[in-house]
Amino acid sequence: MDMEKVLVTGGCGYIGSVVAKRLAERGTEIAVFDNLERGHRCNLDPRFRLYEGDLRDAAAIADAMRAFKPSAVLHFAAYALVGESMADPLMYFENNVKGGVNLLSAMQSAGCDRLVFSSTCATYGVPPSLPIEEDTPQNPSNPYGRSKLMFEQMCTWLQEAKGFRPTFLRYFNAAGAALGMVEDHDPETHIIPNVLKVALGQAESVKIFGGDYPTPDGTCIRDYVHLEDLSSAHLLALEKEALGAYNLGTGKGVSVKEIVEACRRITGRPIPAEMLPRRPGDPPALYASGRKARETMGWNPVRSDIDTIVRDAWEAHKARPRGYEGK
Ligand code: UDP
Repeated sequence: MDMEKVLVTGGCGYIGSVVAKRLAERGTEIAVFDNLERGHRCNLDPRFRLYEGDLRDAAAIADAMRAFKPSAVLHFAAYALVGESMADPLMYFENNVKGGVNLLSAMQSAGCDRLVFSSTCATYGVPPSLPIEEDTPQNPSNPYGRSKLMFEQMCTWLQEAKGFRPTFLRYFNAAGAALGMVEDHDPETHIIPNVLKVALGQAESVKIFGGDYPTPDGTCIRDYVHLEDLSSAHLLALEKEALGAYNLGTGKGVSVKEIVEACRRITGRPIPAEMLPRRPGDPPALYASGRKARETMGWNPVRSDIDTIVRDAWEAHKARPRGYEGK
């Protein structure tokens, strides 16, 4: 199996940068395609060639594909915020779907038919039963999830028509830190970095979006997966040529209140919290067993218990309390 040259879209971002480095450690030649809008130049390993460009620019990705001639693409570059997608749906379809068409066309023209795609549990919407399995009906409740599902469907039709070889890694909540890099989005919307900002004294209190969900403590339940464990799934998908969809979840849901408690315990800081109304588009509970990924690829998430996630994130935030400061 050929895995020596991989193009990583979004390789300067929170997840893509870690996976790119872990793959390079195994001897793979990496190039990164990133527009640096939400990624950070300083996440780029100096050994990697950077094609600075935007997927919405068809010529930019076509040129990069033609020049680098990868044997596979890892596709991370996308907008990924539920709330933002509810406020501006077209922004999501433009980047994640139109940008996705441009990527697939460029791959087809360059004769590259292997893709590992960062998909999401948001493609399931509000699932009829839990844990979510790969064959649970996909019915997204926000434009973000819909845009990711549309990209999956385009790949499936290419598989049917052209022998394309896609893997869909449906992430549950990416969390934690690795390789000294920290989660730093602007604005930050994710729960763990927001709680840790309060621990660092950079915000007064955590805002909990909704305490009236049909869950044991009334707050939303998510399945938090450590970056290192997400990363190992990408490496396995390439190595084992695992095609199709895999839910990258741990089987254990954690509530927003439990996150706040874990952060208080690990940081030793009080972390005041206030209850706000629900955030539009948020399903009450999302978690998956991850059984298919374990059984088919041999995926074994070892750092995804909530204490390890928070501990690693806390160390990274203390080391870079102001994130990348725009770099
Ligand atoms: N959340 C919250 N306060 C915050 C950020 C998030 O209560 O400051 C909640 C959010 O409503 C959701 C959960 O935490 O129920 C996880 O949200 P996040 O944005 O981290 O990830 P998502 O599941 O939306 O991808």
